[in-house]
Parts: sequence; structure tokens; C-alpha cells
Amino acid sequence: MTDPILIIGAGPVGCVAALRLVRAGIPVILVEKDAQLQDDLRASTFHPPTLEMLDELGLTEGLLRQGLRTRTWQIRLHETHEKAEFDLDAIRSDTQYPFRLQVEQRVLCALAAEQAAKEPLLDLRMGTQLIDFSQTADHVVARLQTRGGAEQTVRTPFMIAADGARSFVRDKLALNFEGLTYPETTLLVTTDFDFAAHLPGLSNVNYVWYAHGTFSLLRLPDIWRCSLYPDEGESDDEALQAENIERKLQRIVPRDTPYTIREARPYRIHQRIVDDYRIGRILLVGDAAHLNSPSGGMGMNGGVHDAFNLTDKLPPVLAGKAPIERLDLYTRQRQPVAKQQILQQAHQNRTRMQQRDPAARRAELQRLQGIAADPVQAREYLLRSSMITGLREAATIAA
Ligand SMILES: Cc1cc2nc3c(=O)[nH]c(=O)nc-3n(C[C@H](O)[C@H](O)[C@H](O)COP(=O)(O)OP(=O)(O)OC[C@H]3O[C@@H](n4cnc5c(N)ncnc54)[C@H](O)[C@@H]3O)c2cc1C
Repeated sequence: MTDPILIIGAGPVGCVAALRLVRAGIPVILVEKDAQLQDDLRASTFHPPTLEMLDELGLTEGLLRQGLRTRTWQIRLHETHEKAEFDLDAIRSDTQYPFRLQVEQRVLCALAAEQAAKEPLLDLRMGTQLIDFSQTADHVVARLQTRGGAEQTVRTPFMIAADGARSFVRDKLALNFEGLTYPETTLLVTTDFDFAAHLPGLSNVNYVWYAHGTFSLLRLPDIWRCSLYPDEGESDDEALQAENIERKLQRIVPRDTPYTIREARPYRIHQRIVDDYRIGRILLVGDAAHLNSPSGGMGMNGGVHDAFNLTDKLPPVLAGKAPIERLDLYTRQRQPVAKQQILQQAHQNRTRMQQRDPAARRAELQRLQGIAADPVQAREYLLRSSMITGLREAATIAA
């Protein structure tokens, strides 16, 4: 039995990595700086390969129970209701889950925590923050601090940084996190208003162009999530005011009664990635390693895929059956996929929807309708957007 692996951050990626390692018989200390698991509005789409992976951990059943199976998604023109619709039935021979599952990432964290509580090898320490660390050739020493201020030192053979977009580990290592921050602020608004009853042919996942720019409508079991944008000249604070949110929703479906808004949050979008996911005995996963536009729903999914790839490679290294350099294959298989498949597709999705020129929108819509209508092209397109192509490409990169 080795010393425990230390995982920083009990977001979806840290939780999945922890469960996977303890199921392989490896003890884990999983530390989370907050007293509670995250409960904020973030990922809401699970792609087919992620559901397959999470099945191995016994998590998919719970997600399916609480989520909404979504076979189709679309890009549409609001004014005319014209659309290009993609049907995941085209990839039914490629996956046992030919749909996007609409369910919030907090459900995954809660299910994972439930499983974690039953794992004797998993020591989940909530309210415990990594505040410093150093490494030598054969171990990492981490300083942890509880919310009460008590400090502990942990010595571990490997530390996994799953500490998210503002990763302390990445910052302290001074890693290059090249990329960009998109200029627009996105307003994520949730409402129980049923858009599908008012917009003909709406799917559960819709990216929409309209005269004022773009918006998206994503359906979850009991709410709709709308991504809206400030109008030209409108500050973020102004855009968040109830009357301005109301005005934007009224443009989507005009109605006499005001919308009931459950939550409204602004967020900025980045596209960034580190060069190497392994720095000695420290391994980066998820948002700590890469950030992308949520358009297409790939950030968390990609992070879960990182966690699976890494936790395949770590056990033989710990058992002395493979050299530490074996872990470089994790970077080689995951970093280019994140760059070329996840970041690039997310960027294309975001750029497409920011298009304002009506002729360019129409040309793009027709191109997408052509792809959707052709079974061979539709399958290829859906394999990419469902993140299957990236995983298949990664698997061909050998040691
Ligand atoms: C609006 C929005 C919508 C999105 N939609 C999707 C989607 O549909 N599909 C998708 O795949 N992705 C989506 N994403 C991206 C997704 O939310 C992230 O990729 C995902 O949360 C990354 O998970 P993570 O575990 O790497 O990091 P996080 O979820 O950020 O978790 C990191 C954890 O580490 C903890 N932590 C940080 N520092 C320390 C420390 N020093 N010590 C201890 N703990 C620490 C934090 O408290 C946190 O709990 C969306 C993002 C946004 C903002």
C-alpha cells in the first residue's frame, strides 16, 4: 500500500479522480477548501463517453435518474424558426448513450460524495485548503489549512491539482497559461418558463441567432437556462438588473406577465491551456489545466476524461511496474486533444453564435443543415461534438 495520493479540489474532476483511484486500491486524501461541495450554476451537459466512464464508478444511473435525455440539439434563427438540428441517433452504434444528458454538475459532485463516504480508502477533508507545497524527486509535501486555521502537513507520492480555473497550484508553479479572455460577459439566467410551448420545434439544447445578437436555451428537468448578453453600451451591473433581464427575455417570447427568474449570474469566458500536465510529481487535471467557452458543453466533460486517463496510468507507476515517465503519456494524450478538439470546437461554437451578419448566418445555417441531412457527415460531426473523436484520437497516441 502506498502513501495516499493527495487531490486538491472536490469539484467534479477531483471527485472522479479520487473515486477512480480508491477503486484501484490506492488511498486518497481529497481536500476541498469550501465547507460544502459546489452548488453553483455551471456544467449542465454530459456527453456520451462521459456517461460511459461514470458508469464504471456507478454514477451514471443516478445522473440518468435526475437528468433529461436529449437526443437532438439545434442551431436556429429566432425570427423564422429555421434550424439545423442534429440527432444523436446517428451515433447509436458508437455509444450506449446516444444522447446528451442535461443535468447539473452539482448532481455529479453530490453522487460522488455519497460514494466517497462509503470508501474506506478515501479521506475527504472539507474546509481544508492547500496553502503551500514543495516537491523533491520522490515526493510532494503539502501544507494544508483548515477553516479554523489549524495547519497539517501531508507527504504524498503524487499530488493531483483539480483546483479549478483559478488553480493555486498552477499559479505557484508559475505555469504558462496562454490564451485569451473573450470580451463579452455572459449572463446565465434560469427560469421555469416553458420556452418549448411557445417556440415551434424547439429542442432541449438550442443555440439561437436573433436580431439583437445571440442567446441559448438549455432545458434541465425543472428549469430552463438562458444565456444572454449585455446590449451594446450596457454595463454588466445594468445587464443584471431585473428589468433588463426581463426586457431580454421578452424579446425571446413576449408575454403579458413577467418572467419568474430563479437565478442570474454573470460570467467571463476564457480560452487557456498549460503546456504540460505533469510537473514532476504534480499532475494537473480539469480547469486547472485548460479553460474553454462553455459553448458545446465540453469543459467538465474534458476534465472527467483527464481524470480517467490519468488514473489509468498512475496505478502501475505507484506499483513500480512503470517508470514515472509513463505519466508523460497522460499529457501527450490529453493536452493536444484539449487544444485541438475541445478548445477549438468551443471557440468555433462561440464564434459562430457571435456572428451578426445575416448573410453569413444564413450561409452557416445552410452548411449545418447540409451536414445534418447527410447520415455520414452527421455521424462524423456528432462524433466530434460528442467528444468521441477526441478520445479515439488520444487512444492512438502510444507510449
Ligand atoms: C456557466 C458555465 C456553464 C458550463 N457548462 C458546461 C457544460 O455544460 N458542460 C461542461 O462539460 N462544462 C461546462 N462548464 C465548465 C465546467 O463547469 C468546468 O469545466 C468544471 O467545473 C471543471 O471542474 P474542475 O473539477 O476541474 O474544477 P472546479 O469545478 O472549479 O472545482 C475546483 C474545486 O477546487 C477547490 N479548490 C480551489 N483551490 C483550492 C485549494 N487551494 N485547496 C483546496 N481546494 C481548492 C474549489 O473550491 C473547487 O471546489 C461550464 C462552465 C460555466 C462557467
